[in-house]
Amino acid sequence: MSDLKLDVNIAPMRPMQGAPAQGPGDDPMWSPMSATLIYGQRDAILVDTQVTFAQVDALSDWIDSFNRRLVGIYVTHGHSDHWIGLGRLKERFPDAAAWARPKVHERAVFEATNPGLSAYWQGIFPNEVPTSPVLPERLDDTSIDLEGSELQIIDIGQGDTADSTVMHVPSIAAVVGGDVVYNQVHMMTAETDENARGDWISNLDRIAALDPSIVVSGHNRVGAPFLPTTIAESQQYLRDFSRIVNETETVEDIVSAMLELHGDRDNPRVVWHCAREAVKNRHAA
Ligand SMILES: [Zn+2]
Repeated sequence: MSDLKLDVNIAPMRPMQGAPAQGPGDDPMWSPMSATLIYGQRDAILVDTQVTFAQVDALSDWIDSFNRRLVGIYVTHGHSDHWIGLGRLKERFPDAAAWARPKVHERAVFEATNPGLSAYWQGIFPNEVPTSPVLPERLDDTSIDLEGSELQIIDIGQGDTADSTVMHVPSIAAVVGGDVVYNQVHMMTAETDENARGDWISNLDRIAALDPSIVVSGHNRVGAPFLPTTIAESQQYLRDFSRIVNETETVEDIVSAMLELHGDRDNPRVVWHCAREAVKNRHAA
């Protein structure tokens, strides 16, 4: 058994194609993305893949710099931004397996085959993402061995999407949190209502109970340290969002109240998007 190490590749926030801004901060931007390498003496496992061809190529060069054999790529949840890079990665690392838990796999298949969703990814990153993405394989285990150390998979449930997972690496007290934990980036609440956000907050308690010293977020600001304090910060953000949606009327009011409390986070486009969805769902209810 060797001591594992962990390092994180972050693709910075960048412009995407999208509907014009409705107000300040609403310019179409994609949040910073993380991919995490966990490695021993010889072998390495990657968690999540980056999105665009250029991001994946930079990620592949970065992986090469560790001089380890990439044996597997683990996908935390079904949103395409966390696995759509698999095909291009596997061109560089053909021997690496690609793994997703059954419900994550199911969601990935849906994202890859649903015409609306595929059009969405093509639309925001034209010519920068594959038209027929390579899918991960189903992983039936909740444990992955890396040179005698265990990487534990937790089917945690609600994060920014349902059926999310996180990876716990007990030997180094690390959690790779996918989109359950956010670090200095606005949180994507558009797939949640107040109840789902309550589940999400409880799931963050489950991560805190693991007592990690390293917590990597799927969307992690460049340079922001991987601190466990991001768990409580994420919970506070979700509580604030639910309260503000209940207390305020318009999209603009939700956005300005959220930015007053959390204006130092990356990518306010996300708040605008989530506020629009919250108002739309309120009217639908
Ligand atoms: Zn994401």
